[in-house]
Amino acid sequence: MLKAIINGEHHEFTEGVSILNACRSIGIEVPHLCDDERLKACGACRMCLVHIKGMTYEIVSCMNEIADGMEIDTHTRTIEDARRMNLKMLARKYPAEAFAKFPDKPFHRLARDYGLEEVDFATSCNGSQIDDSHPLIRVDMSRCIDCYACVRICDEVQGQFVWQVVDRGESTRIVPDSFGRFGDSSCVSCGACSDVCPTGALEDRTLLEGAEPVNWTKTVCPYCGTGCEMNVGVRNGEMVQIKPTMEAPVSHGHLCVKGRYAFDFVSARDRVTEPMIRKNDEWVTVAWDEAIAFAADEFKRIRRQYGKEAAAVLGSARATNEENYLAQKFARVVLETNNVDCCARVCHTPSAAALKLMLGTGAATNSFNDIENARTIMICGANPTENHPILGERIKQAAYRNGTKLIVVDPRKIELVKYAAIHLQMRPGTNVPLFNALAYTIIEEGLCDGEFLKLRVDGFEEFAKLLRDYSPEEVAPICGVNAEEIRPAARLYATNKPSMCVHGLGMTEHIQGTESVMCLINLALITGNLGLPGTGVNPLRGQNNVQGSAQMGCDPGILTGSISVDEGREHFENVWQTEVPKGKGLNVLQMMDAAKAGKLKAIWVIGYDVFLSNANASATERAFSEMELVIISDMFMNETARKFGNVFFPVASSFEKDGTFMNGERRVQLLRRVIESNGNSRTDWEIICGLADAMGKGEQFRFDSTKEIWDEIRTVWPSSAGITYERINNAGLQWPCPDETLSGTEILHSTSFAKRKRARLRGIKYRPTSEKVSEEFPLLLITGRNLYQFNAGTMTRRSASSKIRPTDTLDISHADARALSVANGEIVRLRSNYGEAYLPVRISPTVNRGELFATFHDSEIFLNRLTSPHRDRYVQAPEYKVTAVTIEKLPEINVV
Ligand code: SF4
Repeated sequence: MLKAIINGEHHEFTEGVSILNACRSIGIEVPHLCDDERLKACGACRMCLVHIKGMTYEIVSCMNEIADGMEIDTHTRTIEDARRMNLKMLARKYPAEAFAKFPDKPFHRLARDYGLEEVDFATSCNGSQIDDSHPLIRVDMSRCIDCYACVRICDEVQGQFVWQVVDRGESTRIVPDSFGRFGDSSCVSCGACSDVCPTGALEDRTLLEGAEPVNWTKTVCPYCGTGCEMNVGVRNGEMVQIKPTMEAPVSHGHLCVKGRYAFDFVSARDRVTEPMIRKNDEWVTVAWDEAIAFAADEFKRIRRQYGKEAAAVLGSARATNEENYLAQKFARVVLETNNVDCCARVCHTPSAAALKLMLGTGAATNSFNDIENARTIMICGANPTENHPILGERIKQAAYRNGTKLIVVDPRKIELVKYAAIHLQMRPGTNVPLFNALAYTIIEEGLCDGEFLKLRVDGFEEFAKLLRDYSPEEVAPICGVNAEEIRPAARLYATNKPSMCVHGLGMTEHIQGTESVMCLINLALITGNLGLPGTGVNPLRGQNNVQGSAQMGCDPGILTGSISVDEGREHFENVWQTEVPKGKGLNVLQMMDAAKAGKLKAIWVIGYDVFLSNANASATERAFSEMELVIISDMFMNETARKFGNVFFPVASSFEKDGTFMNGERRVQLLRRVIESNGNSRTDWEIICGLADAMGKGEQFRFDSTKEIWDEIRTVWPSSAGITYERINNAGLQWPCPDETLSGTEILHSTSFAKRKRARLRGIKYRPTSEKVSEEFPLLLITGRNLYQFNAGTMTRRSASSKIRPTDTLDISHADARALSVANGEIVRLRSNYGEAYLPVRISPTVNRGELFATFHDSEIFLNRLTSPHRDRYVQAPEYKVTAVTIEKLPEINVV
């Protein structure tokens, strides 16, 4: 500790703290405009001047560290005069109307504090410096005070380098990298520049169109599994702005375009806010009691007529842990069936299955903070800068600033390829041979971690034997990657440790999805890249609570806490005071099969547009057509509801309820009600409890709050027992956390594996998909998401962010576009063995010749009409990532 005197008082500080932060820590607010905890200090605004005894001039406090024995004055007359003069000079060129209209901007507050009035400002802005070209952020450079905060945050946090400083001296200007309109720049609309701007020169349109918020509530982002925390600003009961939460454990004061700007869906005009029943093919608004009674009577009728196994429930990745817990409890206790699943089935169930099978816990082994601990990061079948943008930005910064080596394994040239040491651009569907070849090389070149293998791993000999057929030279023609590229990747991963893997749906959505993840685990085991900071196998979870919905037991084979139904039966029966069903239960794909076979007659689908988002839509269509009761809980009339629904329960959005979400690093975080529910919509948990009551099982569903539900979850799931609402009020906790004295687990398997001391390697043979190109279908289609949209588009397509990328596109290489004579923007017919879709072409250097990439967010395009029926061999996740297709040009229409 060092000692210093500030404004006449003695204090102690730790070393390395800036004078500005030292003052802040003892409650002395030194004025500043360009300082921000997310940025390196730069001293541009010169407002944070302080006087140090013995120095003849004042210094900026943000850039100078406190030293032992310093005597500091922060508010002498000389300093205050200098600050006032500085503000007056800035005001001379600054529009007075902005000062009056937005009194809470940091610059305006300071000006007021230092006695400046409207007359001190320039009379008005003539509008010549306004740039309205960006759909989310307005630029008005007449309000720029040259603090460079926008430039710095775009570089240091987002890593996008959009804002540039040009010219010198008096002529210095800040311009976007288009050197023209901001809307034409490479901006990814994260809003960090607008967030940090102290004047409003860069401003969120939501704020310009409305007024400043009066209340702020901290909650969790409703989109991806990164789990960023956010502060939501409300005025007159309406959400008007979202800002990042500085202390957020994952996002550290940052958000992506979806988290920050895609919230208008909450008040969208077509939001369904009254319960409805379809009568004579028309949706009719009814009272809640009638809707609940109708659903209960129909469930009972179907059970009488067809038996208990004729009904099913689907939980939701956008519902809370508490709601998913109740959804599976409803299936098991009220309907008395294990027919319960959720959309994790179609994304990361293969990851969970592989991790559980080999390591004992079906979840990410490490934490997102390990991105900065890793020396090598292997990104496999994931596109984090679009689909998990905050993690993408952190990976980008790790590579750019810390020299972390990236290996990208992906058929496409995703953005991270720019920062990567190696890109293995393999053919879709060849993960298994490629990862086997990496393992082969590591073993052949003696790069295994012998000590780790000796202490913690079994099955090496057998594994090495299987790999003999997978030399880089052997697999190169299968994967379309040269052996000379495979070998260096293997060396880098094995030697530049710690090495971490993050993977996405490009790994799991194949018939070898579970096997591909097993291959990754094999690599981590033979190189000792497990159980340590900066290592591990980490699935990037797609939806905000997809980890939670499966973990809560929305899975036919497992109960809450990922315990098998048979293993957990006794404990759950004690808590629930009823029998847990013995039947095997169906997953969502099997439910569709059973419905087609006339065996499943009723389904309750909570927050999941099954028809639009499941692969091979014609099969889903046939299945739903056979059902007699389809209950939909959603905010909007989604495609499943529109076509097949009988009962519609309007539900509260995540901004309208309390509860918890679980992100992709096993962190349970508190969600808080920000606004009242829209219209007559209700939370999912209230609806489940109401329907259970109407079916005579109310006793097991008597809850007055989500906290009470969570406390029951803690009772049935020992690894969550230490996670209480009180403890996660400020920051979430990562399970396992079995005791309230423990602080959660950042890294799994540090000394042993969940159930055993040692893990076993599993040799995986490559068994290719039967989905192959042919003369009729010569191209391979990969499907995925883009930055501006989210899954079925239910929320993002109703939000302002959607203006940037309003429709799905079909990415095609220049060579294929030329060969097929298709042009950018041209609508083509895309046809597979299973269906067709019409969508515009986007010629892109990111895809290989013979391969296509399309997003699937637009219900009018309905891309899943043409994805295949093939499924993962272990857990039946659909093979979204490989479909043989053909492109057909449409005849030109002559308009007379
Ligand atoms: Fe939300 Fe994911 Fe974006 Fe974070 S990265 S703001 S969680 S969508």
